[in-house]
Amino acid sequence: TPAESAMTSGATLELVGVTKAFGDFVAVQDVSFVVKPGSLVALLGPSGCGKTTMLRMIVGLETPSSGSVLFDARDVSALGPGERGAGLVFQDYAIFPHLTVSENLGFALKMRGDSPAEQQEVVKELAAALELTALLKKKPRSLNPSELQRVSIGRALAARPAIMLFDEPLSNVEAGMRTRMRAELRTLHKAFGQTAVYVTHDQTEAMALADRVAVMNRGRLVQFGAPRELYDRPADAFVAGFIGTPPMNLLDVEATEGRAYAGSLSVPIPQGLRRGDARWQLGFRPEHTRLSLAPDHNEVARGQVVAIEPMGAEVTVTVAGKGWQVAALLDEADRADLTEDASVSVVVDASHLHWFHPDGPRDFA
Ligand code: ATP
Repeated sequence: TPAESAMTSGATLELVGVTKAFGDFVAVQDVSFVVKPGSLVALLGPSGCGKTTMLRMIVGLETPSSGSVLFDARDVSALGPGERGAGLVFQDYAIFPHLTVSENLGFALKMRGDSPAEQQEVVKELAAALELTALLKKKPRSLNPSELQRVSIGRALAARPAIMLFDEPLSNVEAGMRTRMRAELRTLHKAFGQTAVYVTHDQTEAMALADRVAVMNRGRLVQFGAPRELYDRPADAFVAGFIGTPPMNLLDVEATEGRAYAGSLSVPIPQGLRRGDARWQLGFRPEHTRLSLAPDHNEVARGQVVAIEPMGAEVTVTVAGKGWQVAALLDEADRADLTEDASVSVVVDASHLHWFHPDGPRDFA
């Protein structure tokens, strides 16, 4: 199979206290994590959070201001990209326009002096894996964005680097095709066995592709964990609001006498929440929020339906009351008797409440 011949054993990638400053501006601050051999870590965060800078330090295009980058326990921080040999796929393809698909795929092999027969074999295998066989003789100008992207991925894979880095590789692929390409990338990654870091600002993509997700915000690593951990136990309100669609309801609450209040919405304060702290952010996901027309003894508030947005099998219902507004994600069948302006009770299980302290990670849910 193509996978066998291109099989590489991935290296361990380790970042130890990596910091990058540009003048006075700190783009990446004290980031540490380990990527196990053959696993894929998504580097996720909003624009400007330092993802690309992080990737450039891993590949060797930037030198950390402090901290180290280790490949299989070897410190490569001072080495250039050529000496590190990590593969990089970025959004604008890096494909030679004057070469055919086949020549582009074989470029790295030719450069390092593989025989024409060896080149031929690997190109054939990569083309099969990337569904490019029919296009091998074509020039890039006749290819569509998705095909160009696959050529770009194939070019990087051909060199068989032990570490592959992807910088938003699907950003030029139209939305419909992106889901399919995502699945193809995941399959290829598993087949080739390389260690991979995948930069994206798209949480859906990160959650779908990655074994572990590193969430960055303002240059810092705010959480590193499996997709499910990030969803179930977000480290802070930023991660909570960033992971999940529609986003988690987050309310500033004030605690008094055993209950926390956001206007007319209130919940009992759980045991274990630190005493003396009056201000918290309370979070609960739309999919964990139920609505009922009849009063419910577990309700956190009573409010009015202000918007109903059908999304196929599900529907997002926005409810507001004095000093709060929340979204509930309901099955189409469950919202049958809800109409705009209806008065409803909002019900959330205590087990689905997240408590975030303004000073940082402290989730007691
Ligand atoms: P995007 O998704 O928009 O590319 P990002 O998360 O990849 O964002 P970076 O490109 O790493 O973020 O940039 C992080 C911050 O560092 C930004 O504020 C950027 O302006 C700044 N920055 C990056 N490179 C340099 C540089 N060479 N000189 C000065 N500032 C820089």
